[in-house]
Amino acid sequence: MTGWGVDLRLDDFAWDARGDPVSAARAVAEGAARRAGGQDYDGGFPAEDVAALARAGLLAAPVPRRDGGAGLGEETNGSILRAVLTRIGCGSLALGRLYEGHVNAVQLVARYGTGAGRTRLLADAVQGHLFGVWNTEPPGNGLLIDAADGAPVLRGVKSFASGAGFVTRALVTAQHAGDAPAGGSQMIVVALEPGERADPSAWRAHGMRASASGTVDFTGLGADRFTPVGAPDDYQAQPHFSSGAWRFLAVQLGGLEAVLDAWRGHLAATGRGEDPHQLARLGEGVIAAETARLWVARAAAAASELEGDGDGIVAYVNLARFAVERAGLDLLERAQRSVGLQGFLRDHPLERLARDLATYLRQPGPDRALTEGARHVLRAPQASGDLWLDEA
Ligand SMILES: Cc1cc2nc3c(=O)[nH]c(=O)nc-3n(C[C@H](O)[C@H](O)[C@H](O)COP(=O)(O)OP(=O)(O)OC[C@H]3O[C@@H](n4cnc5c(N)ncnc54)[C@H](O)[C@@H]3O)c2cc1C
Repeated sequence: MTGWGVDLRLDDFAWDARGDPVSAARAVAEGAARRAGGQDYDGGFPAEDVAALARAGLLAAPVPRRDGGAGLGEETNGSILRAVLTRIGCGSLALGRLYEGHVNAVQLVARYGTGAGRTRLLADAVQGHLFGVWNTEPPGNGLLIDAADGAPVLRGVKSFASGAGFVTRALVTAQHAGDAPAGGSQMIVVALEPGERADPSAWRAHGMRASASGTVDFTGLGADRFTPVGAPDDYQAQPHFSSGAWRFLAVQLGGLEAVLDAWRGHLAATGRGEDPHQLARLGEGVIAAETARLWVARAAAAASELEGDGDGIVAYVNLARFAVERAGLDLLERAQRSVGLQGFLRDHPLERLARDLATYLRQPGPDRALTEGARHVLRAPQASGDLWLDEA
């Protein structure tokens, strides 16, 4: 059993994701959208929807083909993974957050893992284990690998850890105790039982309640419980580290689309849509969502450019972060103004969708992302028209 109420074996997969991952994601997202309201409470979690991801083969899909998966994310311009993430995010931003973390972890294991540990972890993903990437930690109590007494033992906690208590393979960053606080960050994957070590009470959030982004205390777990992945600092190796942000942008885009649809539904249901002010606001909202979509598509394509200019790729994705955040905030402002107080009542579809999106738009260092993108442009020798990728 993997903890999702289904006894998964390789042969049991419908392998929808191997054939058409986007249709599989769309089907999972439809169920997730129906259930998301019922999961919107402190301690909520989309367990049925994660089980649906597993059954559809979407937990296995990011594993490379040669390792038994579908190689989702290996396509040349990231377009299939992008569509999968957006579709799931549109159904439920909490589920999208969890799935994005799973994909990120599996890709990190595939890229940096070696030997028997890599083989075993990728087999775990194929078998339906939910992975997560937990990097954030509270000041002064971050995760350490302490080998002072011989055998390595973990000490410390991770915070804002999505899927805390549900993720059974947690890719975490940890410093060797002697090197802290300035040493390199070592990736390890910790095997956890459902509910183990998690404090869900640390996640009392405005939105994204069902993402279970609580605190996990690893103190006392020994080396038999974790597998090292890669070398120190591989986690932050560029351009992968910063350009990987395009994946959460793709999930956020799904959240924008869900808000836009709830807003359109309200205008249709109330017969207020033809009012010229409402039409103008709706037009601006559509432009915001489409702006986000275009940035996400180009960011995903840029991040897939293995031979590209790494600094340029990072700068583009950093700027895309700001563009998508701005688009999300513009969309929320217009949707809430357009729907009015109804949109703040708990039984209105816009209410939870707006809270979830506003919360998930909070990502690390947004000012730094904008200014580093701007600095790249400031120093670039090219003319503005030649700054980025292609241009057919
Ligand atoms: C729903 C959800 C799920 C999450 N799940 C995970 C997870 O599974 N794993 C994980 O590792 N993390 C997770 N996180 C945490 C996430 O990665 C970020 O750590 C978090 O979102 C940071 O948000 P923040 O607004 O506090 O960012 P900050 O970076 O603290 O930014 C807040 C503000 O301060 C500014 N700022 C930042 N640094 C400085 C500075 N040095 N000096 C001055 N100003 C500064 C920023 O520009 C911004 O204006 C999750 C977050 C959310 C919302």
